[in-house]
Amino acid sequence: MSYQTKISGWGRFPVTETRENRIRKTDDIRTALAADGSILARGLGRSYGDASLAPEVLSMLPSNRMLAFNEKTGLLRCESGVSLDEILRTFVPRGWFLPVTPGTRFVTIGGAIASDVHGKNHHVAGSFCDHISSLKIMTADGKIKSCSPRKNTALFRASCGGNGLTGVIVEAGIRLIPVESAWIRQTTVKAANLDELTAQFEMHKTATYSVAWIDCLAGGDAMGRGILFAGEHAAKEEVKEKFPLVLKPGPMIPVPVSLPAFTLNPLTVRLFNNSYFNLAARKPGPSLVNYRSFFYPLDKVANWNRIYGSRGFVQYQFVLPESAGITGLRNILGEIVAAGTGSFLAVLKQFGKGNGNFLSFPMAGWTLALDFPEKPSVFQLLDRLDSQVSEMGGRIYLTKDSRMSAETFRTGYREKVNAFMKIKGETDPGNRFASLQSKRLEITP
Ligand SMILES: Cc1cc2nc3c(=O)[nH]c(=O)nc-3n(C[C@H](O)[C@H](O)[C@H](O)COP(=O)(O)OP(=O)(O)OC[C@H]3O[C@@H](n4cnc5c(N)ncnc54)[C@H](O)[C@@H]3O)c2cc1C
Repeated sequence: MSYQTKISGWGRFPVTETRENRIRKTDDIRTALAADGSILARGLGRSYGDASLAPEVLSMLPSNRMLAFNEKTGLLRCESGVSLDEILRTFVPRGWFLPVTPGTRFVTIGGAIASDVHGKNHHVAGSFCDHISSLKIMTADGKIKSCSPRKNTALFRASCGGNGLTGVIVEAGIRLIPVESAWIRQTTVKAANLDELTAQFEMHKTATYSVAWIDCLAGGDAMGRGILFAGEHAAKEEVKEKFPLVLKPGPMIPVPVSLPAFTLNPLTVRLFNNSYFNLAARKPGPSLVNYRSFFYPLDKVANWNRIYGSRGFVQYQFVLPESAGITGLRNILGEIVAAGTGSFLAVLKQFGKGNGNFLSFPMAGWTLALDFPEKPSVFQLLDRLDSQVSEMGGRIYLTKDSRMSAETFRTGYREKVNAFMKIKGETDPGNRFASLQSKRLEITP
């Protein structure tokens, strides 16, 4: 089944006309390949920019069967349209959790692999694809290829983080981790500025999970003030619930319509940041929170992306290598504070070592993710930030991006781009798999 529709990423910018094909079986992909033109697999559309946009997309959502589970090893084999939410709802009550999870559970396995997503535990667990045992991918010739870290390694390395450009991931094997409860022992620490905050990361470097929210409007001595959240899976004895692995369904708050752009201005953002900082600061120390509150606070608000109004927003996530140090981070934050454009959500994490996947984003160092409303002054600011990130040897995350230049991309991903292009040329010489992003970044013509 296929139909004409308009789609966008989570940032609602850009929006594009597309023909969407619903993929139930692998023959549906072959049918799409038999026609002319380029195509692209798409999951739940939680990438922010144009990585999942193309004139013809294959929605993998109907391909959502779980195929096999090994109770001893935790190895799950499933189709690529299965969502992380479906996995959590099925397996947490049985004592298993995702090895790595992004900040929303509404992403598909295919999307998580194609972006090689990271979580709050990158410093100890690496990225999502570090826990993938095998993949089945339909390439441009209509054949299904198996690959893994040991078999067909180059195809595996190019497809993990490959943004759908090597083919359609149809099936994956993923290793879940055992847990005793659905709860997280959370520690909350308030930090008055960037030095304190980064020192807190250092103090919590053995914590399994760590992430910080930064108030990116606070300047002067308070620049980089924020709150660090560290967490561990709680043992069953710590949880006072009769069934420690079971959570009641939580309520969802809707944002029914796009809010007018004026609701989001430096004043409202400042008010939000101040109250958030003071609220969280009122209850520092340890607490027990369920995994949904700890990992997915934003999922409580359905369609929160509408708060930026109908023009949408851009998310900007960069990573700076360790060599750039705290000074590099401070310089970029200083530029953002000075611009005063504001972002409700500025999330700081410390990455561990990157993996060998060609277009995977993480590298050892600091990563900061921010939201900005879509407007010309923001684009000028982000161009300036791109230059600073590139000069310091950092890069921009493709799954969040909708505007960086081909040059910024090549500078950031360096020799990994050539390794990727080699496999792309071998497996998809006709560039059947392409996105608006791949064209903008000159990965495909
Ligand atoms: C609130 C929020 C928080 C987030 N937090 C994080 C975070 O902490 N860390 C992080 O790394 N990311 C984060 N993200 C980004 C998100 O995890 C990724 O963009 C993810 O790829 C989205 O998955 P999806 O199923 O929605 O894929 P889509 O957005 O539909 O597609 C993303 C990419 O995957 C490709 N793709 C999808 N399915 C397939 C398939 N079957 N075969 C081949 N290619 C495919 C698409 O072509 C596209 O290039 C967050 C996003 C949101 C909205």
